[in-house]
Amino acid sequence: MTPDPSAPIVAIVGRPNVGKSTLFNRFAGRRRALVEDRPGLTRDRIAEPVEVAGRRIWVIDTAGLDDDASGDLQSAVQRQARAAVEEADAVLFVVDGRSGLLPDDEEIARTLRRRPVPLVVVVNKLDAPRQADRAAEFHRLGFERVRPVSAEHGAGAWDALEELVSLLPASSESAEPVRTSEDEVRVALVGRPNVGKSSLLNRLAGAELSVVSAEAGTTRDAVDTRIEREEGTYVVVDTAGLRRPGRRDRVGEAASAMVALRAMERAEVALVVVDASEGFTDQDTHLAGLVRRQGCAAAVLANKWDLVKDSPEARAALRDSVERRLRFASDTPLVTVSAKTGARIGRVWPVVRQLAKVARTRIPTAELNRWLQEAVTAHEPAMAQRGPRKRPVRFLYGTQVSTRPPTFTLFCSDPKAVKDTYRRYLENRLRERFGLVGTPIRILLRGRREG
Ligand code: GDP
Ligand code: GDP
Repeated sequence: MTPDPSAPIVAIVGRPNVGKSTLFNRFAGRRRALVEDRPGLTRDRIAEPVEVAGRRIWVIDTAGLDDDASGDLQSAVQRQARAAVEEADAVLFVVDGRSGLLPDDEEIARTLRRRPVPLVVVVNKLDAPRQADRAAEFHRLGFERVRPVSAEHGAGAWDALEELVSLLPASSESAEPVRTSEDEVRVALVGRPNVGKSSLLNRLAGAELSVVSAEAGTTRDAVDTRIEREEGTYVVVDTAGLRRPGRRDRVGEAASAMVALRAMERAEVALVVVDASEGFTDQDTHLAGLVRRQGCAAAVLANKWDLVKDSPEARAALRDSVERRLRFASDTPLVTVSAKTGARIGRVWPVVRQLAKVARTRIPTAELNRWLQEAVTAHEPAMAQRGPRKRPVRFLYGTQVSTRPPTFTLFCSDPKAVKDTYRRYLENRLRERFGLVGTPIRILLRGRREG
């Protein structure tokens, strides 16, 4: 899949039980069949990159978010709808064709009409073709495009998504090249509402020369904050939301995930901010998972440490919870900070710089192959059936194909015979040898006929 620097975000919105997550899983499933996935990331998915009509988009299940937010169900659904219109590029509005049009649907529709984004009404649960005419009554919602769908059986689902994507501006118009220079590191500050992101931004920019510049963004204007320091320049991307207080409270967690997605597209390093006084929540795990999939190197900033009684035990407990909650990224560096007192803010920069260095690692092919032969010799891969005989999978050679994240193609005699455990073994050895800590890495296995 070619990386699109500004993949549009499609939000799935609707009241509970209409089939949003069924639809989301259907879209995500097709993608999983095409692209290899890493274990540990499939749980609790809220956003998935999906390829549709030759374009890469993000599909986000807003209902997967906001569960634990305060307030009743009604307001949670409204918050999701608001987040969708404020932050998404397009909306799939799901309704239930069996129950018919309900007042709650109309309520959501009112919110969705506030800012016109491309929108398709998906009338779900119309499993048999003869039920399609039940979609008609939903025209009363006032949207032009209304499609009968069965998320469960698949009928109409991809057509609806394709139609929606065709309404988006062409990607060439929206693609914004990410400029990277050696001494400039692009950082995304992500986290749930109220963990202290804007306070941290102020602290980080602090005494340093800080220039706020408005850049023409993709679909929204991205405001970046530039922080010049002796050792180099940091650009904190997409700080618009952080600099517009008030707005954040209204949109909640679904929006923070979309903002994070957008910022990460343009960043090399993500700082996942958590509230140390609350500990690590499911939402924090969601966001850290998104960061990982986006290929960003990342650190966790445990903010509000001033509210925690500092002790070696408290630190160990935090480290522990990060490792437990981020099993897929247990090497993530952790810094305890306080935006309020300024404690240990200075530690953040060296961590960011180190992560950027790691994300940009380029391993010369000769060195990579020396490592590969050693790793394979130290621990032989499983046997693969070749004709009548079994032989170990032979690794032929490897090469690094990209950075951010470091991505490697390893050619071998039988990629399908390589077990997950062996892949993990290779990944761990690669990390060890080349110090690839705090960044996702990707290993692609390719077949190559021998002899
Ligand atoms: P969400 O709360 O909007 O995410 O809804 P879910 O995806 O969890 O689905 C709610 C219920 O509707 C589940 O029991 C699904 O099996 C069912 N459902 C979802 N899509 C369809 C469909 O296309 N046809 C039928 N018959 N049932 C569906
Ligand atoms: P954001 O929504 O993530 O941008 O969070 P804000 O920066 O607006 O902070 C949310 C609340 O947490 C505000 O009331 C801040 O004053 C408070 N806050 C932020 N950082 C700290 C911190 O390090 N310690 C304490 N005690 N409060 C903090």
